[in-house]
Amino acid sequence: MIELKNTTKTYQAGDYTVKAIDDVSLAFRPNEFVAVVGESGSGKTTLLNVIGGLLSYDEGEMLVRDRSTQSFKKTDWDAYRNNSVGFIFQNYQLIPHLSVLSNVEMGLTLSGVDKKTRHQRASELLDRVGLKAHMNKKPSQLSGGQMQRVAIARALANDPDIILADEPTGALDSETSEEIMSLLTEISQDKLILMVTHSRDQAKRYASRIIELKDGQVIEDTHPYQASSRDTDYQLNKTGMSFWNALKLSGQNIMTKKGRTLITAVAASIGIFGVAVILALSNGLNNQIANFERESLASYPLEIQSETVSVEAMMSMGEASGEEREKYPQEQTLLTKTFIEDIEDMQINNAITDDYLNYLEDIPREYIQAINYDYPASLNVLTEFDDEVRAVDRSTGGLETLPGKDENEEFNFVKSKYDLLEGDWPADESGLLLVVDAYNQIDTTVLDSIGISYSDDQEIDFNAVLDKEYQLVYQDDFYTKEGDLYRAPQSQADYEEIYEEANNLDLSIAGVIRPKEDSNIEVRLGGLMYSNQLKMDFIAEAQESDIVEDQREADYHLLTGQAFASDEEDPAAEDFQAPTQMEPPAEAIPSASGAPAEITTPTEAYAMTQASMTKEEWLSYLGDESKPSYIAIYPSTFDSKNEIVTYLEAWNEDAAEEDQVIVTDMAALITDLSGGLMNAITIALVAFASISLVVSMIMIGIIIYVSVLERTGEIGILRALGAREKDISRVFNAETFIIGLSSGLLGILFAYLLTIPINYIIYQLTELENVAQLHPAHVGALLAISVVLTLIGGIIPARIAAKKDPVLALSGQ
Ligand code: ADP
Ligand code: MG
Repeated sequence: MIELKNTTKTYQAGDYTVKAIDDVSLAFRPNEFVAVVGESGSGKTTLLNVIGGLLSYDEGEMLVRDRSTQSFKKTDWDAYRNNSVGFIFQNYQLIPHLSVLSNVEMGLTLSGVDKKTRHQRASELLDRVGLKAHMNKKPSQLSGGQMQRVAIARALANDPDIILADEPTGALDSETSEEIMSLLTEISQDKLILMVTHSRDQAKRYASRIIELKDGQVIEDTHPYQASSRDTDYQLNKTGMSFWNALKLSGQNIMTKKGRTLITAVAASIGIFGVAVILALSNGLNNQIANFERESLASYPLEIQSETVSVEAMMSMGEASGEEREKYPQEQTLLTKTFIEDIEDMQINNAITDDYLNYLEDIPREYIQAINYDYPASLNVLTEFDDEVRAVDRSTGGLETLPGKDENEEFNFVKSKYDLLEGDWPADESGLLLVVDAYNQIDTTVLDSIGISYSDDQEIDFNAVLDKEYQLVYQDDFYTKEGDLYRAPQSQADYEEIYEEANNLDLSIAGVIRPKEDSNIEVRLGGLMYSNQLKMDFIAEAQESDIVEDQREADYHLLTGQAFASDEEDPAAEDFQAPTQMEPPAEAIPSASGAPAEITTPTEAYAMTQASMTKEEWLSYLGDESKPSYIAIYPSTFDSKNEIVTYLEAWNEDAAEEDQVIVTDMAALITDLSGGLMNAITIALVAFASISLVVSMIMIGIIIYVSVLERTGEIGILRALGAREKDISRVFNAETFIIGLSSGLLGILFAYLLTIPINYIIYQLTELENVAQLHPAHVGALLAISVVLTLIGGIIPARIAAKKDPVLALSGQ
């Protein structure tokens, strides 16, 4: 069965060595009850551990069923312990956090026996040792004798050839010892039992053979045996523990230290919690930003202006001239800077050519809700108010073009964004629309300008507004030729006269409109809107008018007789004009934004003659310019906006620098800015919170190391039962996995709970709903990070556990 041939085992302890087994040759029968006796330190335990494969011998040979163990690898020894040997220890060595049944099953679990068979076999064995009724108890609920019976049942579970028992009754009273001894005697009928005992009497009473050791050598053998039979087909079943079984084992272990595990998981969850909260906030804010861009399609169209300053350039300018300078310097000298020149250098002249306009026309129509073109020409609109005739003052936002008609010449875009409160949509260009804000309000200055009276009670009847009449006066009637010059109307009499001109176009308010609730259009002042066609007609007339034709010829201003400002730029010599003022009086901002438009009334036009106006600008103002100075493109969807931007960028790729057209995307500018800032803040905060992840990782490492120390005995038992080193590290990896997963889940849970008050507070402060939102992908990634980091933290302790010497582990070291 088992044969030792000149086997020697030497312990190395520092400088000195002990030959615990010294040149021992012994052979054993397949079924006999061998008692090993001898003084303490004579080598009994060492002999048993060598035979049990828990210790390796260093000289000689050991044969198992005539097969040499010289060639055994680590895993062969593991399999050998599992298949062929059953251990019984003086102190029982049961795994405390497992039930009696699971303890007995462990060896079967390691050799991969299925659950049902395992259960059946274990209960049979427990029945045999008289403990079936106790199988669901924990070991600590049993007496010493009962625990040793459990150990015997466990030793028998895999039906081994050899039972090794090291002083099995050493901790038991004599009565209980008798019971255990008779059980072992019974077992020895068909198994080899090697039992170490310090009681010669016990050895004589029960054993069929007594071997006495002294200083590692056999000094007596009562019934020697010469191995003869040849049994060569010895097969070992390899052992292993699945990760699932490792999880169960560690899960049950963790259940015995719930409080500590919970505290560990909570502490370790702080990092995940921090990162999760930050990601939730940044994710939510980014969503808000994206929504803003989506929702602002109507209020922030893509804009093209003939003259503009790139917003990016404006913002990057900050410190004016480039040189680094000291703030609040001590020196009493003046320094120069070139802020104004810099701004002027940044001015972009967008070449809105016929080619470009055609290019715009070719944007696929499905991408566009509407395009609004605006021209520099200024309309002369008069109205009667308080028995006076006055010019509608466009500088107060009184008159603006409607966002254009679509390809069907219908106001579909306007209709989709505004509700008609009263009246009708205009049938032709003589119809005007009065725009009010979301509260039906209109600014009093605008009302004054467009000639609508209001009383102190602030309410105006729709009927007082509808059909209110205006006169569009053409340039030939508006400006009167006087000698070489022209005269703009100035007195009330002038106005009254031109108000009655037969050529005038009668305009009237056809309807009152208000932005729809979901349109995201914000009207600030309110005012009148006219159709693009009206302006086109006016321009056509203006181009044929006397003043325009004469002005084209004249080098001086026909209203003042003075020279024009030079078109050739010499910014230093000229008075600085803010870029917007330098533009011809175009309605640079779409009506929807409700911002005041530029100088437009005749009186102001007259004032403009005093200013540094170029001839070109003055002519555009009069209407001698058929190209738009401002184009607003309203995309139909968020995606089509991107398509349009790509399309417009393609123009610039092929164009020479001076022909390029810069498109302003206000919404994208705002979102890019805030989005970029958000991402930077997020990265900084996540990096900060990640430090606590690293701290958690180290903490988990320490906790697992403590667990390894605590579970040392268990490691020894598992090894004795045939667990591989790999299985041991698996057990601890399973423990870290559980802690990592729980801390991840806790962190996410806490973060989720915190988003509730965070969202409440943000809502109170900003009216933004559900800003903090955990993204499912973030949740998954954070759980994975938590598990991976804790596993990394647990790797070293798990390795320490796996490398533990099984014999030392069994003795708790
Ligand atoms: P017994 O079981 O008969 O009391 P052991 O087999 O435990 O004897 O020990 C035999 C000898 O080996 C003793 O001298 C003991 O001190 C020594 N010994 C046992 N284990 C170790 C060890 N791990 N390291 C060093 N010496 C050991
Ligand atoms: Mg001993």
